[in-house]
Amino acid sequence: MGALSLPFGVGAGRRRSPVGCRMSFCFLGLPLPPVSFLFLLLLATPGAWAAGYETCPTVQPDMLNVHLVAHTHDDVGWLKTVDQYYYGIQNNVQHAGVQYILDSVISALLAEPTRRFIYVEMAFFSRWWHQQTNATQEIVRSLVRQGRLEFANGGWVMNDEAATHYGAIVDQMTLGLRFLENTFGNDGRPRVAWHIDPFGHSREQASLFAQMGFDGFFFGRLDYQDKLVRKKRREMEQVWRASTSLKPPAADLFTGVLPNNYNPPEGLCWDVLCADKPVVDDPRSPEYNAKELVSYFLQLATAQGQYYRTNHTVMTMGSDFQYENANMWFKNMDKLIQMVNMQQANGSRVNVLYSTPACYLWELNKANLTWSVKKDDFFPYADGPHMFWTGYFSSRPALKRYERLSYNFLQVCNQLEALVGSAANVGPYGYGDSAPLNEAMAVLQHHDAVSGTSRQHVANDYASQLAAGWGPCEVLLSNALAKLSGSKESFSICRDLNISFCPVSQTSAHFQVIVYNPLGRKVDQMVRLPVSEGLFLVKDPRDKTVPSKVVELPNTGNTELLFPALVPALGFSIYSVTQVSIRRPRAHLRQPRPQKSRSPILSIKNEYLQATFHPDTGFLRTIEVLDRKLTLAVSQAFFWYNASTGDKQSDQASGAYIFRPSQAKPIPVSHWAQTQLVKTALVQEVHQNFSAWCSQVVRLYPGQRHLELEWTVGPIPVGDKWGKEVISRFDTPLKTLGVFYTDSNGREILERRRDYRPSWDLNQTEPVAGNYYPVNSRIYITDGKMQLTVLTDRSQGGSSLRDGSLELMVHRRLLKDDGRGVGEALLESGSGVWVRGRHLVLLDTAHEAAVGHRLLAEKELLAPQVVLAPGRGSSYHHKAAPSKQFSGLNRELPPSVHLLTLARWGPDMLLLRFEHQFALGEDSSRNLSTPVVLDLRDLFSTFTITHLQETTLAANQPRASASRLKWTPETGPTSHPTVPRLDPASITLQPMEIRTFVASVQWKEDS
Ligand SMILES: [Zn+2]
Repeated sequence: MGALSLPFGVGAGRRRSPVGCRMSFCFLGLPLPPVSFLFLLLLATPGAWAAGYETCPTVQPDMLNVHLVAHTHDDVGWLKTVDQYYYGIQNNVQHAGVQYILDSVISALLAEPTRRFIYVEMAFFSRWWHQQTNATQEIVRSLVRQGRLEFANGGWVMNDEAATHYGAIVDQMTLGLRFLENTFGNDGRPRVAWHIDPFGHSREQASLFAQMGFDGFFFGRLDYQDKLVRKKRREMEQVWRASTSLKPPAADLFTGVLPNNYNPPEGLCWDVLCADKPVVDDPRSPEYNAKELVSYFLQLATAQGQYYRTNHTVMTMGSDFQYENANMWFKNMDKLIQMVNMQQANGSRVNVLYSTPACYLWELNKANLTWSVKKDDFFPYADGPHMFWTGYFSSRPALKRYERLSYNFLQVCNQLEALVGSAANVGPYGYGDSAPLNEAMAVLQHHDAVSGTSRQHVANDYASQLAAGWGPCEVLLSNALAKLSGSKESFSICRDLNISFCPVSQTSAHFQVIVYNPLGRKVDQMVRLPVSEGLFLVKDPRDKTVPSKVVELPNTGNTELLFPALVPALGFSIYSVTQVSIRRPRAHLRQPRPQKSRSPILSIKNEYLQATFHPDTGFLRTIEVLDRKLTLAVSQAFFWYNASTGDKQSDQASGAYIFRPSQAKPIPVSHWAQTQLVKTALVQEVHQNFSAWCSQVVRLYPGQRHLELEWTVGPIPVGDKWGKEVISRFDTPLKTLGVFYTDSNGREILERRRDYRPSWDLNQTEPVAGNYYPVNSRIYITDGKMQLTVLTDRSQGGSSLRDGSLELMVHRRLLKDDGRGVGEALLESGSGVWVRGRHLVLLDTAHEAAVGHRLLAEKELLAPQVVLAPGRGSSYHHKAAPSKQFSGLNRELPPSVHLLTLARWGPDMLLLRFEHQFALGEDSSRNLSTPVVLDLRDLFSTFTITHLQETTLAANQPRASASRLKWTPETGPTSHPTVPRLDPASITLQPMEIRTFVASVQWKEDS
């Protein structure tokens, strides 16, 4: 999206102030040489035929060099769908057609060899590429080789940084960079990460970029106060130390703030979408403006250069969907360059040139300065007083959950494709493929997709893309499960288990339940399936009866079958379920209690935990950890903020991007909850009904060390004309001194302080919204002794606005647009109005807390996949008996190791990523923060690794030959360790380290 850009594609044209010529800067220019002469001059620059920085243009060492970066910002869906943007459909909504942009740019680059352009979004570029003739492709290859077309970032999309999980970021970057690597080799490898539009920047994103081998990173948006301070201190460019665990410079990333977000300077927008005056260089024309323009430009460049430390500065010449008529931009920039540089003969010390982010970075690197170091992140983002972009952390919660669930399913799909090989792709169920879901997931990472900031019809399209991606993965799953189990069943996945709907289990008297576990360790999982009434017999893979229970869900009339499943690492267990009686069973169910009765205290309990509820309100009152003798008063309830529609202080309304409550104090959804208790041997639940649109089940299964809060919110009533932003809040007496903690993209943890920013003296204008941070997987508070952690099942905004309190925004429904371009109120329609989700609550001692939340977050992210089948399928192998249990691993991974990626990479190649999931010093209780050594030989049961190559994080460079530009941070020089010899028998993982491998493999014959 573009900040404040207006619909109908007039965003950039809005900035209309005329190019001014202050008289003191106006002087007579010399007659201009023919343009062709200038071309020849510039053509003579050396080193035009090598890859990387060698193709960069020559600069003037003793002048201020202004690097013009010609670029287009092409959102992978926002006001229009991906396809509407690509083809240029619905230009009445927004004038934008990416295919024409690329056609036009290539012609313009060919017309003049000094011109350069960068392209960013591979979702669009790869599509365009596949539609070109061989001849055009050859021309484009040569432009890339010469550095005239440079790829920046190179992900499938320019991903959001607040609502994304690191696993999905790594996947989407891998997809885009792989296309570039396959198509252009090393010539096409982006050196620079380019996140010019995302609305705030996470530290984990910087760490991932560093690990992917990027030399530097440029972005556009940061808090307006932060930007002012940085300009004053000349800290617009610095080294970002993006990990507290990885040894520098592994996660150090040179980072630059662009001067003008990503737009051209005022008055210099020469796109068909803009209204600025072109360069008129014929002195006889009454419209002649060349002289004024030159003087304005020189003034502009000098002023801008003052905020940066080298004699180089950058100007972003382009914006949203610009360059559809690239000639307009380039023709005017050709003239500008020529005219401005002509002034050097008159003593001007400004040199302007066509450049790229990589070439600009290269000059900064050569300046050999010592740079200041940043250690926190760039959240939250505010573009003015009262304008905090913290609403999108929670916008469209149903889409955010669907994205996270699809991540889970994609990993299952990838793993089975890797474990089984080609039999997963072509088998009895047809052609199975992980690629469509992989692409759909990549699209969802775009900064207007999972962020929830697109228009409604685009959000619907995103959901459709995910749904379409699930199909081929389900075929793959069936092929793989048939092969591994030896039985050709009619497998089916119930996609609607969250609303207790599943035809196979609800209508069959006998069926099988296949539970696949994508983790590198065995898991036990309570399986819950909707069933018709009756009694059921459940048998495990060894034909032993397992305890099971049918529970009636209060107020719905639905019944669910529960049984505990134990599933081996990276494998499955098959359970059989048989209905033995149609007698109506009854779980012990207490009827709703009358309001405020003096009834005994409600509580639920297992061997580790007890939770009690307030007898008057029905709210959660205490959590007790029995074996650790910890008790904490925890009150939990739902509240809502009344969304501001603007007031005397500011006309800023709450919207898809912006969160702005009309008052700091939230309003309780209800002062009490109607409660019902379900107590069985397999689950204990308190059902809380707060209002017609807000309810919750507080749940405890045997053996669990966490409390599960399954909330259901919606449709949020707005009949009173008040937009509402609903939170779940936990209040405790913990003395937290204004401090709380949130994860960064689901990985490392950052400390947050109320009304405080680590890098500048904050003038807080919004006491609530200005303290909201992205929560991708967890938020916690601690008094140093006890820690209360809440894990989320999707990205949400969260905060701690009072000591001992923490809150998460679960849903929002708004009646006004917030003026950031989307032009729609976040009302949502269809399934998005009604949202169900889970918060997992952990109470622990502070020093034991990391084990709990790290392992539980991993289990929540990669939950077991439940597949149903009627049974009685025919044999797959004809020889071997069907097997009801399988593990893809010959030995389990240690608890500190997360199998981040196991995916097909080629006909006989796999992509593997192993991750140490604990931070340095995070766990002292079980020593899980220490380095761990893996033996990859014979680790997997279905294939043998015949060759192993280590790569950078996105798998587009061998690690041994990868090198990054070296920078000197103010903290002192860092040593660049040599890459040790790769020994598959001994792969060491340091805390928070991810190691990526491309493995050649041989699948084993059926045993
Ligand atoms: Zn954008």
